[in-house]
Amino acid sequence: MDPEILAKIQKAGKIASQVRREGAAKFVVGAKALDIMDFCEERILKLGGQIAWAQMAINETAAHFCPEENDETLIKEGDLIKIDIGVHQDGWLADNAMTVEVGTNQYSDIIKASQNALKAAIKLVRPGTKLWELGEAQMSEAEKFGYTTITNLCGHSIERWKTHAGISIPTYNSKNKTELQEGMQIAIEPFITPGQGLIKEKGKATVWMQAKDKGVRSPYAKKILEEIKKQNGLPFTNRWMSRQFGRGPTALGLRELENSGIIHGYPPLVEVSGGMVAQFEHSMIVRDKPLVYTRHEDDSW
Ligand code: MN
Ligand code: MN
Repeated sequence: MDPEILAKIQKAGKIASQVRREGAAKFVVGAKALDIMDFCEERILKLGGQIAWAQMAINETAAHFCPEENDETLIKEGDLIKIDIGVHQDGWLADNAMTVEVGTNQYSDIIKASQNALKAAIKLVRPGTKLWELGEAQMSEAEKFGYTTITNLCGHSIERWKTHAGISIPTYNSKNKTELQEGMQIAIEPFITPGQGLIKEKGKATVWMQAKDKGVRSPYAKKILEEIKKQNGLPFTNRWMSRQFGRGPTALGLRELENSGIIHGYPPLVEVSGGMVAQFEHSMIVRDKPLVYTRHEDDSW
């Protein structure tokens, strides 16, 4: 790999892991979710990164939530919080996540199972490993605790400006015999639950990505599309737009862009049986010994 590219990936990883840990520490009783996500975005910029995303998810929600500018959600005792931070340098991405429970110790097994699943999969990462092997390793760790992975969520390959670059890393034995290749950039992310192990979309999207480019009619949609294009295919969230253009115009503009197929919404992903969900995630480069470039010195996983 080109050393300049590698340096960018590693810098993104260092910032992503730092902001993930700083953000996670802010989830205490009474904290406002919106403030924490704003803090994370500010920290990414302050540390010299570019924002790919700062997302969170509470309890039975597994992923894909960003507070809107008027969101009043407060963190409660016993909440199980996932924080998922994406940072890039010039399109070279780092994607990582962790889970914390707020003020209780009732979910330490789910958390541990997810950490163990991630560690077990990383241990197998080298050129030639088949995707099903990574999935089986994750599921087997979940089952040791009597839980399951969420089988319709997966890890993924990463490329420049592409969060999901085509290869899915299963969280169960999917029988997929595709092999990891030297130099491949991947993220592994076991979601673990005592529930049924399936998610569905629920509620309003606050995470969006551009799907295609074409002309739009209204001035609102035009302005918003110009902003969206700055992300170059990476996600964006409602409040980035509403703070610039106002909430009404943003809602109208997003609706027009969605209806014309220019943007695609990713609503919150909720466990179908209401099971609590824990997630840990690292990004890495496939080598004989993988380069896990989102591992923070305080991560034990
Ligand atoms: Mn992630
Ligand atoms: Mn990911």
